[in-house]
Amino acid sequence: MTHDELLEWSRRAAEWALDYHNGLRDRPVRAQVAYGATAARLPAIAPDAPEPVEQIFDDFQAVVPDAMTHWQHPRFFAYFPANASPASMLAEQLANAIAAQAMLWQTSPAATEIEQVMMTWLREALGLADHFTGTIHDSATTATLSAVLTMRDRAMGWRSVEEGLCGGPRLRIYASAQTHSSVDKAVRLAGIGQANLVKVPVRDDFGMDPAALDAAIRADLAAGYRPAGVVICCGGTSIGAFDPVAECVAVARAHDLYTHVDAAWAGSAMICSEFRGLWAGVDAADSVVFNPHKWLGIQFDCAVQFLADPAPQIRSLGLRPDYLQTLGQDEIVNFNEWTVPLGRRFRALKIWFVLRAYGLDGLRTRIRNHVTWAEELAAVIGGMEGFEIFTPPALSLFTFRYRDDVQTESLLARINDDGRVYLTQTRHDGQFVIRVQVGQFDCTRDDVMMVAQVLSEIS
Ligand code: PLP
Repeated sequence: MTHDELLEWSRRAAEWALDYHNGLRDRPVRAQVAYGATAARLPAIAPDAPEPVEQIFDDFQAVVPDAMTHWQHPRFFAYFPANASPASMLAEQLANAIAAQAMLWQTSPAATEIEQVMMTWLREALGLADHFTGTIHDSATTATLSAVLTMRDRAMGWRSVEEGLCGGPRLRIYASAQTHSSVDKAVRLAGIGQANLVKVPVRDDFGMDPAALDAAIRADLAAGYRPAGVVICCGGTSIGAFDPVAECVAVARAHDLYTHVDAAWAGSAMICSEFRGLWAGVDAADSVVFNPHKWLGIQFDCAVQFLADPAPQIRSLGLRPDYLQTLGQDEIVNFNEWTVPLGRRFRALKIWFVLRAYGLDGLRTRIRNHVTWAEELAAVIGGMEGFEIFTPPALSLFTFRYRDDVQTESLLARINDDGRVYLTQTRHDGQFVIRVQVGQFDCTRDDVMMVAQVLSEIS
């Protein structure tokens, strides 16, 4: 395939994409295929001879769309969304055409500098203090890992960077049980170990109890452990729990611990000033992550980490072997030194396009609508016979239950087999509950209310 042929096929792909997006409401949201069915349709080995693109494209249409769960479906209310607005898709096409590897400023000056400017635009949009600077990771998991590695090395007096952890003190990281499993993964990968992730008790609202955090740290100090850092949850995945950020950071600070705020989902909502009370005190944190790829329409992958001071993270992650030196330019920013992988995609471009194409007001309207519609839907479901709102809307996420565990689980299976909407489950307070998360970029109030209609028809 040549670049000239690519032009024609790009047109065909764009036409296909338009039809696909226009037809999404007619498709079941969750894939309705059996495990292994797609693999069985593909040849066991790669072809030796080139094949015509026409044939490859036909096969794509025959094999792929029906075997996908449609994340851009306006009635996707599962997990958290991974929104891809059209402006974001356009930017990704352009970034794909350039296909740069933006590891150093000199390998992609525009990528580095647009990333720097976008970090300022986003910081201001979220109402964060001006001392924050930031970078883009592939995922919140990687940003949280970066923060935990920084906590580890800082608590070790940076000795661990050269010598590792062997023979050193037992490090401790603190988070509530409402925090995402990426924190568990980070402590494992950092060599700190799952047993050293202390799950701090929560208050009645499922936010971390600052007094319990303080007590846990003191008990660990008395037992000879070395506390290293606190991960604070803002908008937990299960039910949308929020830790009291100001109080938790204050406790961490009193013990000289590094703090990282995980606002992967809820961070986007902070472009609306009325929601910022939910993370009051965030300006005192050392590190904050949020995923524009969840609720801001900037497509996967795009996780933004703000840092009060990037120097400690660069001390943990940054390396400059001879072949990566940028001679005579030692003081410039090379973002690979801020993140785990060396290679980096040009992700800032899609932030630039989306913030301009919809404006902050366009994005705010979407988020406000989602929150309002989630509240309306929760009120309707709460009034239906046999249904109980188990946790009330936290922004646009709530959970409900139908009679008991068995009936709730069986109802969920029927909802997703029906296919008009897609919901997923969690377990809260020992009970099986169904999550509803309103956040898809193109969803309307009617799409949201379809959840109640489906429930009334099939419960
Ligand atoms: N933190 C929270 C609160 C999340 O909800 C998620 C994913 O849904 C993550 C972290 C991990 O995000 P990522 O998929 O970007 O690693």
